[in-house]
Amino acid sequence: MKPAELNQSPHRRFNPLLREWVLVSPLRTARPWQGKVENPEPRPAAYDPQCYLCPGNLRAGGVRNPDYKATFVFDNDYPALVADTAEARFQEEGLLVGESERGLCRVICFSPRHDLTISQMPPQDLRQVVEAWIEQSRSLGSLPWVSSVQIFENRGPLMGASNPHPHCQVWANAARPNVTAREDFSLNDYWENHKRCLLCDYGELEIRHAERVVCENEGFLALVPFWAVWPFETLVVSKRHLASIEELTEAERTGLAEILKRLTTRYDDLFAVSFPYSMGFHQAPPDRSAHPEWHFHAHYLPPLLRSATVQKFLVGYELLATPQRDITPEEAAERLRSPSQKG
Ligand SMILES: [Zn+2]
Ligand SMILES: [Zn+2]
Ligand SMILES: [Zn+2]
Repeated sequence: MKPAELNQSPHRRFNPLLREWVLVSPLRTARPWQGKVENPEPRPAAYDPQCYLCPGNLRAGGVRNPDYKATFVFDNDYPALVADTAEARFQEEGLLVGESERGLCRVICFSPRHDLTISQMPPQDLRQVVEAWIEQSRSLGSLPWVSSVQIFENRGPLMGASNPHPHCQVWANAARPNVTAREDFSLNDYWENHKRCLLCDYGELEIRHAERVVCENEGFLALVPFWAVWPFETLVVSKRHLASIEELTEAERTGLAEILKRLTTRYDDLFAVSFPYSMGFHQAPPDRSAHPEWHFHAHYLPPLLRSATVQKFLVGYELLATPQRDITPEEAAERLRSPSQKG
């Protein structure tokens, strides 16, 4: 049976990275496409005197930002994790289990410009952001107690971003977080069984089928994964097998900046809004051992479904049983490839 036949009726698809299923109910969107374009949002100013991330402004913690000209990195004033947490462990009958967690939380302002998201930044400035990601991955990953460096961006108020100034966060943890721990297990298991990399094999399959590919360049592939949960969820994978962002060549750094700009532009064009999302990179644990099973990638998890105001909620059956989606990943990829002809 081909996936196209599968798409004629409700079915479920397997996510080999997280080892869980997603329910796909294509019949629920047999109705015509109802995408609609909202009135354009007012464009923010290049500088906002009230913004605590803009250059020269006072932050809530009382520190004044320097008059920075490119990317700007600082320790979060209200961090969720701190480095000097004393080690402690608690266990009772294997049911009440807890342990202390050390970590560091940083903020990276993409540029001094309050108004330029990744889709709007000049490529050379975006390349500076890639350099900042690599630098943070390297410096935090070299701390002996750190086993995860998670770079992530919450874009837009729908995703709870507290400040519109384009920025991302970096959290470094002592423990491996839930999602990457599950990916560690899956990638390792695939490597053990096939002596090949799961994401190299998956990327090759997707290039062959093409129907879920959104865009690509020499170094990267952006696609709606076969097992996507969010309507317009995408996965960005490097074409070359590499374990972390630190291994990118000069050309690949430029390629990463380029593919992220292209992908976020397609997102913005879809409903003619600055598209909200959570995104982040996944990479091998920085434990100084080889991780041939690991393949560097990024996930984009956007909440919008049919318009700038209709969002998908994970509720009810999805919270209590299995995530479910209506439009198929193939249809989502097609809309992202040619957003201007839709809606
Ligand atoms: Zn700002
Ligand atoms: Zn690989
Ligand atoms: Zn991942």
